[in-house]
Amino acid sequence: MAKKETIIEEAKKTVKKAAVKAAEKVVEKVEKAVKEATTPIITPEMAKIPQGPLELKWTNYKNHQKLVNPANKRRLDVIVVGTGLAGASAAASLAEMGFNVLNFCIQDSPRRAHSIAAQGGINAAKNYQNDGDSVYRLYYDTIKGGDYRAREANVYRLAEVSNSIIDQCVAQGVPFAREYGGLLDNRSFGGAQVSRTFYAKGQTGQQLLLGAYSALSRQIGKGKVKMYTRYEMLDIVLVADENGEKRARGIIARNLVTGRIERFFAHAVVVGSGGYGNTFFLSTNAMASNGSAAMQMYRHGALFANPCYAQIHPTCIPKHGDFQSKLTLMSESLRNDGRIWVPKKLEDAKRLQAGEIKGRDIPEEDRDYYLERRYPAFGNLVPRDVASRAAKERCDKGYGVNNTGLAVFLDFSDAIQRLGKDVVAQKYGNLFQMYEKIVDENPYENPMMIFPAIHYTMGGIWVDYELQTTVKGLFCIGEANFSDHGANRLGASALMQGLADGYFVLPYTIQNYLSDQIGVPRMSTDLPEFAEAEKAVQDKIDKLMAIQGNRSVDSIHKELGLIMWDFVGMGRTAEGLKEGIKKIDTIKKEFWTNVYIPGEANSLNNELEKALRLADFIEIGRLMAVDALHREESCGGHFREEYQTPEGEALRQDDKFAYVGCWKYMGDDKEPQLIKEPLDYEFTERKTRNYKN
Ligand SMILES: Cc1cc2nc3c(=O)[nH]c(=O)nc-3n(C[C@H](O)[C@H](O)[C@H](O)COP(=O)(O)OP(=O)(O)OC[C@H]3O[C@@H](n4cnc5c(N)ncnc54)[C@H](O)[C@@H]3O)c2cc1C
Repeated sequence: MAKKETIIEEAKKTVKKAAVKAAEKVVEKVEKAVKEATTPIITPEMAKIPQGPLELKWTNYKNHQKLVNPANKRRLDVIVVGTGLAGASAAASLAEMGFNVLNFCIQDSPRRAHSIAAQGGINAAKNYQNDGDSVYRLYYDTIKGGDYRAREANVYRLAEVSNSIIDQCVAQGVPFAREYGGLLDNRSFGGAQVSRTFYAKGQTGQQLLLGAYSALSRQIGKGKVKMYTRYEMLDIVLVADENGEKRARGIIARNLVTGRIERFFAHAVVVGSGGYGNTFFLSTNAMASNGSAAMQMYRHGALFANPCYAQIHPTCIPKHGDFQSKLTLMSESLRNDGRIWVPKKLEDAKRLQAGEIKGRDIPEEDRDYYLERRYPAFGNLVPRDVASRAAKERCDKGYGVNNTGLAVFLDFSDAIQRLGKDVVAQKYGNLFQMYEKIVDENPYENPMMIFPAIHYTMGGIWVDYELQTTVKGLFCIGEANFSDHGANRLGASALMQGLADGYFVLPYTIQNYLSDQIGVPRMSTDLPEFAEAEKAVQDKIDKLMAIQGNRSVDSIHKELGLIMWDFVGMGRTAEGLKEGIKKIDTIKKEFWTNVYIPGEANSLNNELEKALRLADFIEIGRLMAVDALHREESCGGHFREEYQTPEGEALRQDDKFAYVGCWKYMGDDKEPQLIKEPLDYEFTERKTRNYKN
């Protein structure tokens, strides 16, 4: 009898549990539907996309935008944060036009911005090779490469101005590689079947930055640019106008040498602060690259667009230990001549991992050139997201090399045989040297080992067609904005975008804003808005300095990086992302209760600088995970394992997710609000990306 009652009781419990679960699911569905129905939308008008045919939009815009006359330009001040390719080109151009520019950077010289690291090249549709390139084709490759998640009008404009960038840089004396006849040489990068990448050996970023720097220096010399090196912006100051609308009117910055907090006014603020890839701790980015400027904009009402779109680059030197603070990129240009492979046989992979044999010991017939096998049309030059996932797939199946099994080969033996060692050395010598210095192995004799690593962030601050954020007078350029690359950036397109923004787009569009500001007098930085912003910055620093816990900044950052890689990395799942968000919340608590910052706040203090940046990386990491969780599809660099084709390719859900996912800050410890900018394509047919034929 007792047994019967127990069984009935158990059955009741089970039924109750199942009912509660079913009800929870219904509630979740209803909540989701209500959220969907009430999600605010950004229209093309709000994004200020000009009317007319695609190829005439930019021309029409320029023909009708408002201008500022020379006498008024002299009365207007513009702050430019950043001296990378975006910031330096913008600052130099605005000063050349006659505006007064205040330019800030963290480094001790504008020339040391992260952009200097760029190796491979910059795209432009010059068609010097006569291989069928055109502005339209560059546009099409870019929008397709981004998995149809970028704005058509912006991408077309980017392709359109690409040729002017090359002319501008040549005029500055940038030493692009030339062919025997004297024409500029080109090579190929991923996602294109033409050669449109201009380069200066493996130092393209450095040479372009020297060009921008010389233009900037000229303006510094003329007194039109006031340069603030070793200054870090810690907040943006907004002041309400006569209609109560808040506008960006200045910044609060910390002098990194003295620790002094200072106030600066300007009629408009332009931020070109780079990407947030260092959220992952280990990345190919420069050590000082950070996402704090983006978070400051976000907290003031600028939307953060597509934060989950991060690029994992397939050709980086694999991680070699737990005490590493940086990963090194081997330029994508190497994929022009290098062939990527892993062993065909598992036993060979095991012997390689055990160090019993080297790559060169494996005979040709036992090598699996998996990119050439899977994607015959593009081969080793498939876009980065595709190449990275294919490497992961091979390594996950056990075919990886290196002692960790987390690497694939990039092999030049064919190219050396075909072209000769001298030609290969001429083309890629400095990259080979860099590899040998780091790995202590000669890549001419044994294939290089490479593995994917976090490299670039396509997501960033939402900007309209004028590169203005949702905060009036606050502009965002270069890698810091979300702009033109959709869900995946093609190689050599970041330099193109940064310089397009700085030399050829912002100098026009910012005038449309500033033309209405000519009557606004310079404001005193004694205004309460400046005082309050400075106090908030000081309070945050004091709070951090007072913690005096047990953990170094780096140890917490490293932990965050591992969580990001494991849960918000190359393969994402709903379950993993939820888990990742919980873990990030725990790290946030740990950081704010247990971080240890030695030294004083009012002097040079590297650890304090890092702590301020880490506080923001934690927030960005969470935002990335939240965005990745909401985007129930795979596109470009965002790969949700639940959404893939039987062949393991990304599966988009165009009917549900063909929009820019923008997030609005709703307060500390509150969930951000989703706002959508639908990407209703007028000119391009969305297709499944195909690099096979
Ligand atoms: C190793 C490597 C190789 C690459 N190779 C290529 C390539 O071949 N082709 C290509 O197209 N792209 C390449 N990229 C990508 C490209 O280099 C970057 O996307 C691009 O340089 C970013 O330029 P940017 O001007 O937007 O920002 P950055 O160059 O990152 O400059 C940011 C600037 O902002 C300043 N800053 C940041 N925060 C603050 C603050 N709070 N206060 C004051 N100043 C601040 C910094 O000091 C710096 O001056 C490469 C990237 C890496 C990592």
